[in-house]
Amino acid sequence: MKRYQFWLVIGTQHLYGSDIFETIEQRGKTMAKTLSKAVQPFAEVSFKTLLKTSDEIEALFKEANHNDEVAGVITWMHTFSPSKMWIRGLKQMQKPMLHLHTQFNETIPWDEIDMDFMNLNQAAHGDREHGHIHTRMKTARKVVSGYYKDESVLEKIRKWTRSAAGVLESKHLNIIRIGDNMRNVAVTEGDKVSAEMMFGWSVNTFGSGEIANRVKAVTQNELREQMDKYKKRYEIDTENIEAVEYQAKLQIAIRHLLREHGAKGFTTTFEDLHGLRQLPGLAAQDLMAEGYGFAAEGDWKTSALLRIIKLMANGGGKGSSFMEDYTYHFENGEGYVLGSHMLEICPSIASNKPKIKVEPLGIGGKEDPARAVFEAKEGKAVQVSIVDLGGRFRMIVSDCEALTPFKSMPNLPVAAAMWKLKPNFSTATESWIHAGGAHHTVMSYDLDAEVLRNFAEMMDIEFVHINQDTDVNTLKQTMNMQDVYYRLKGFGQ
Ligand code: MN
Repeated sequence: MKRYQFWLVIGTQHLYGSDIFETIEQRGKTMAKTLSKAVQPFAEVSFKTLLKTSDEIEALFKEANHNDEVAGVITWMHTFSPSKMWIRGLKQMQKPMLHLHTQFNETIPWDEIDMDFMNLNQAAHGDREHGHIHTRMKTARKVVSGYYKDESVLEKIRKWTRSAAGVLESKHLNIIRIGDNMRNVAVTEGDKVSAEMMFGWSVNTFGSGEIANRVKAVTQNELREQMDKYKKRYEIDTENIEAVEYQAKLQIAIRHLLREHGAKGFTTTFEDLHGLRQLPGLAAQDLMAEGYGFAAEGDWKTSALLRIIKLMANGGGKGSSFMEDYTYHFENGEGYVLGSHMLEICPSIASNKPKIKVEPLGIGGKEDPARAVFEAKEGKAVQVSIVDLGGRFRMIVSDCEALTPFKSMPNLPVAAAMWKLKPNFSTATESWIHAGGAHHTVMSYDLDAEVLRNFAEMMDIEFVHINQDTDVNTLKQTMNMQDVYYRLKGFGQ
């Protein structure tokens, strides 16, 4: 697991004499230690430096941009730092930023407070001056306010470090599409050039023959190794071992192609399997469990999103998967969603040890594919979709509560998840449909909307959150206003 590095930088100036700098530096180190402890093991915060002049500010941001290890910069103004000094540096800043509005002392030292104290501890107004220039320059940044040791403050910083790591990953993400989109489908389409400009995603297509050739080249050793992994992770519940071995070969072949191109996600499509005997089922599932992004039917946006979410959730331990809204269950005036896919749900969300089964697919005209079958776990989760509205990207997050399916489904030979939407079925689905959300999503138990909102803001894309407080008409109005905003702003500017 990579540990993401963040810098804490503190703004001040020479106005108060240089004898305050040592005190501020010591405080910066103490504060960084507290923040670092809170964000570990995913990330680490170190005190970087005091910033006292325009030249120092510019040099710091250049260094942060240049250093690949740095995932983001946290700023805090201990004293007043005139923010025209920040313009030159901020204009160049390319890394995620968090403005922490806090102060070193928790309480006012009633008996000792004097003008020296007032001149040293000025975050209350120094941070407002700092915030103003970010707003004036329209810097995408997270603002977190409160006493720095408070758990609510640390939790916001913790979530932001995950969002920032997602931004870093997004900026050089390669996605391989094996075959094109499912024919005539709209929502899985999109502008790949704009996606590369906005998100940094490089999305390129390879013919299925690229996989077919690599399947032929799989060695006996590679096959044995992959089958051993399957035996550890899954219960093999089929006599048709050859079909399982074929998925192992597909997995090895796809992994080779991904590694050759430094790709972290891929798509397949059942309409383009030339030279392949089965649709990749277990192969796609197990690659997702390894951390790769995946979505079916050429849906590169969802594949990229899953990869980024898996990275942001790293160490969360609950799981994230490609998902599709499949069918509904209505009971006592409430609706529930049963989600699944033809085959490809990630075993990281399984509540039990998945069983490998080989069953007919009834679509795509290929041999019966092996797949891992299980029920998803219970708990709070989100459904996430990114759509291309032809002038901007919109991320839609819908809060839900995953449940155990009410009854067993002995004839359903695929992995399935069931959930109840917030605030209720009709509000959530009406909102989702008005927002143009896809039938494909990423379902994550590890992240909440805040991590995703931070990410969307840093990526400068639209964000829609369907939650406990959502009202359909208010949401429609908000989206209309956002439409005007993004039209004025232009795409990918
Ligand atoms: Mn689908």
